[in-house]
Amino acid sequence: MAKRDYYEILGVSRDASPEEIKKAYRKTAIKFHPDKNPDNPDAEDQFKEAAEAYEVLGDAEKRQRYDRFGHDGMRGGAGGFGGGGMSMDDIFSQFGDIFGGSGSPFESFFGGGGGRSSRQRRGSNLRIKLKLSLDEIAHGVEKKIKVKRYTTCDTCSGNGAENGTALRTCPTCNGSGQTRKVVNTMLGQMVSANTCGNCGGEGKIVDERCGTCKGEGRNLEEEVIPVKIPEGVGEGIQLSMSGKGNVPKRGGVPGDLLIVIEEKEDEHLKRDGTNIVYDLHISLIDAALGTSIEVPTIDGKVKIKIDPGTQSGKILRLRGKGIQDLNGYGKGDQLIHVNVWTPKTLSSEEKRTLENLRESPNFQPQPEKGDKSFFERMKEFF
Ligand code: ZN
Repeated sequence: MAKRDYYEILGVSRDASPEEIKKAYRKTAIKFHPDKNPDNPDAEDQFKEAAEAYEVLGDAEKRQRYDRFGHDGMRGGAGGFGGGGMSMDDIFSQFGDIFGGSGSPFESFFGGGGGRSSRQRRGSNLRIKLKLSLDEIAHGVEKKIKVKRYTTCDTCSGNGAENGTALRTCPTCNGSGQTRKVVNTMLGQMVSANTCGNCGGEGKIVDERCGTCKGEGRNLEEEVIPVKIPEGVGEGIQLSMSGKGNVPKRGGVPGDLLIVIEEKEDEHLKRDGTNIVYDLHISLIDAALGTSIEVPTIDGKVKIKIDPGTQSGKILRLRGKGIQDLNGYGKGDQLIHVNVWTPKTLSSEEKRTLENLRESPNFQPQPEKGDKSFFERMKEFF
């Protein structure tokens, strides 16, 4: 069966903001949550479909690839999305991010008795912003990022009990985490399941809490994490480091560390996609006589030649002096926009010299027939 369009599944437009996409997914997930739709066998499929759509549209990089290549862009490849559907565990682990915290707000939304306590708990994601200079973006960089994250308690190895002693099965629910009650209603007998009040749904109880973590099984610690940033990242790109987020309470899978890239503006060089644009100002004299001049590039200063008779507005290209394309399409170029500087103040002697040149035929503008217009030059370079 052909896959449905991800935007259509979530009911958002193609230019929807990340916030709108998140909101739409929340709505869809709540609507089709299997626990909410016991009589609708299609609900689980729709629920999974929405989760898969969000997995892609909720990630700036994957979304870009999807916009470009459609479903084909999501299959295999480096960093590709498997596309083979998501397991329920994957989907629920996503919720930490969507609903905040460790997925629990979602559970409480559904009254807690969802019977999903057998699922492995996953810790919340950590999100940090990382500001990079153009130089770091152009060449890639290794950063040491200081984060405060919950890590497994060493004293109890994460189970929250004193010295890591074994936990006791909750006598109230016999380890199921739920208490069941049979209720007689007009429609007959109904079984209602509730989270066990004695163990909080965990099925196990701690007799003596670990003194180090106060029974949480985790401690907030400062950690320095080395991060390798590939060349070519850009504003808003999100890199994720699997397992470097928070460890959940009393054991489970840690969340991810999400690094959102921000670009520091460079004083001289502007970025336009994979190209670098530089505004060069030269004097009237240099433009007329020609010269060689140093310009900054992402690889340091480079000497370029200005031909005699260079016109203002000319664009020079330094091939390969741009930014590496993230999708592997190679490096961009540096484009040098030549501006001829006209003096604003002149001494009386300078004025006289120029007056003498005013009527010279060589100083009359003589655009040639073959010269390209500004519009044509723009099209050629961008
Ligand atoms: Zn502990």
